[in-house]
This record gives sequence, C-alpha cells and structure tokens, in this order.
Amino acid sequence: MPLFKCDQCGCVENTACSGFWHREWDQRDGTGDGRALCSECDPQIGKWHARFEKRPWPENDPNYIDVRSPDWPHGPNPPAPVVAKEAPRVPVKRKPPRGLKRRRRG
Ligand SMILES: [Zn+2]
Repeated sequence: MPLFKCDQCGCVENTACSGFWHREWDQRDGTGDGRALCSECDPQIGKWHARFEKRPWPENDPNYIDVRSPDWPHGPNPPAPVVAKEAPRVPVKRKPPRGLKRRRRG
C-alpha cells in the first residue's frame, strides 16, 4: 500500500485515494502546485475519502515509508509522468475468407 505524508496537513495518505499520481499534470495545467496532498487538502477533491481513518504521519515508525523516500523498498518512483503512446498500427494480413459451401437440400 503506497503511502505518503500529505505536504499540507501531514497526515497519512494512500496514493490511490488521492491525486498523488496526477500532481505533475495538475501543476502543468495550473490546477495544482505539485505538492502531494491528501484527498481533504486537495482542492479538486476537498474531502476525506474515509477509506481509513485520517491520522498524522508517525514520524519514527519504520513501518511507514513515504513512497517518495529513497528508503521506499520498491524502487524509485519517477517524478515525471509516463505519457502513453499510441501503439503503431501494423497492417494485418488476412487470409481471404473461405467460400462457404452450401448444401442443397431436397
Ligand atoms: Zn492533507
């Protein structure tokens, strides 16, 4: 469960419950300032999601590792968004349809 500390209020927040992953885009289009905000502090959401209880980030608990920390065990999270590219169109060679033989009845 990737967690982070809200840059505004300092609570524990889950990346999936907030706008964490699109903060870069929000900064580009001017709807955000690039900070990682919990759902309540994020003006685009504005309320706590209630998936779990809101609580302050435990500073000295080794079980809590901010997803942006170099200590995050699953590798670095690139700050730049990955822009999806449209897959190149490859012409598909199709076999000509086989003629359907009709059986005549009667
Ligand atoms: Zn917050």
